Amino acid sequence: SNQLLAGKRGLIMGLANDKSIAWGIAKACADAGAELAFSYQGDALLKRVNPLAAQLGSSLVVPCDVADEASMDALFETLKAEWGQLDFVVHAIGFSDKNELRGRYVETSRDNFTMTMDISVYSFTAIMQRAEKMMSEGGSAITLTYYGAEQVMPHYNVMGVAKAALEASVKYLAEDLGKDGIRVNSISAGPIKTLAASGIGDFRYILKWNELNSPLRRNVTIDDVGKSALYLLSDLGSGVTGENLHVDAGYHVVGMKAVDAPDI
Ligand code: NAD
Repeated sequence: SNQLLAGKRGLIMGLANDKSIAWGIAKACADAGAELAFSYQGDALLKRVNPLAAQLGSSLVVPCDVADEASMDALFETLKAEWGQLDFVVHAIGFSDKNELRGRYVETSRDNFTMTMDISVYSFTAIMQRAEKMMSEGGSAITLTYYGAEQVMPHYNVMGVAKAALEASVKYLAEDLGKDGIRVNSISAGPIKTLAASGIGDFRYILKWNELNSPLRRNVTIDDVGKSALYLLSDLGSGVTGENLHVDAGYHVVGMKAVDAPDI
């Protein structure tokens, strides 16, 4: 335990279960002394989110569907009434039709393209519009992205295009909000077996590939992501904004892995 976020209040969005990246981040924040609020999508998730929130000493659990402006307004009205001030935001939300997370990107439908961009990209901007108003003393926000934004990864398809737009929006948000002392960054996490990831075709193969080919020769965990998130959300990251921090066991630097036992 440390006190890196003592006296700080943060909103965690995107907790679905104890495999969620949001859970790894929430645990690291709670361990650092933060007071947390959680938003969840749809009544079905409440029975999972409530006990997890309670485990970290939080009873501020609020519904929010980021496709719905009124739902986002209601979340921030609740936060304003309960807290007044907000110090950090974790946006760990993404969605696309899993039928289009396999096969060819070129087949992407207009409807799913629009929906994927809305939920996975615009929502972060929409949340920051509202969060900004509660961060009069400055703040820090992070979102989650993936290497499929930078390079073509199998089956990532429209989600790769959406993550590229998300990473660009992080830079624009960093500039707009920097004047108010609000930092905005992303974490590019390596593949982790979560609910969202299980929608991606051949995900087990992708996990194995990353384990074998990353410099650390392993996959990352939600706790690895949580520790890096703590750096960006706390004063340790005070000079960092507009950044995309790869928490991927180094996979993004590899062009071609050295042959461990060369005999060619
Ligand atoms: P997850 O399924 O645990 O979390 C995804 C969350 O998005 C869920 O809590 C879901 O309720 C929420 N969500 C979807 N649509 C929503 C909506 N309309 N309104 C509100 N919430 C909504 O999976 P995860 O892997 O922890 O995903 C979190 C983030 O991390 C996503 O942005 C994902 O793209 C990103 N990411 C995941 C991986 C990975 O391999 N798992 C790697 C890099 C980045």
